[in-house]
Amino acid sequence: MPLIPIRQYGDPVLKARTREVEEIDGALVGLIESMIETMYAAPGAGLAANQVGVQRRLFVYDAGEGARVVINPRIVESDGEWAYEEGCLSVPGLSWEIVRPNAVHLVGLDVDGNEISIEAEEFEGRVFQHELDHLDGVLLVERLQEEQRKEALKILRGRALDLDAADPDGLSSLFAR
Ligand code: ZN
Repeated sequence: MPLIPIRQYGDPVLKARTREVEEIDGALVGLIESMIETMYAAPGAGLAANQVGVQRRLFVYDAGEGARVVINPRIVESDGEWAYEEGCLSVPGLSWEIVRPNAVHLVGLDVDGNEISIEAEEFEGRVFQHELDHLDGVLLVERLQEEQRKEALKILRGRALDLDAADPDGLSSLFAR
């Protein structure tokens, strides 16, 4: 299965809410396999479908027990608070300490269409919340405190300007938006 380019900060596909999966067919299974390979190659612990340009509600992850997929995921309950240094494959090379609920109860479907229900905390719970945000068109930058966020946007805007200077043909407009 081929690797798929991971969309980067500034790509509008990352800002749009994804749609429910209606049918788990061969094409979707192929996409899931490619997403898992792409996640490991990056390397990362999670990858949402819209990070590879597909506007559907599913993500793959590996929180230490092998690759899994969750289709049409929903968080039905969350509890506690946990601070964790969080990064994102679509915002490479940067990370911030972000406080989110510690424990979450996630429901969804597996690749065979069976209902799954997972109670997760700490790292696994964080991966679920991060990937769910992606599927709702939310990037981790939007979860930062105001000062952190200003600093982050300065860095990200600087990157867009660097790309403009290095790329007079304007290919970087993909990133700069
Ligand atoms: Zn991410």
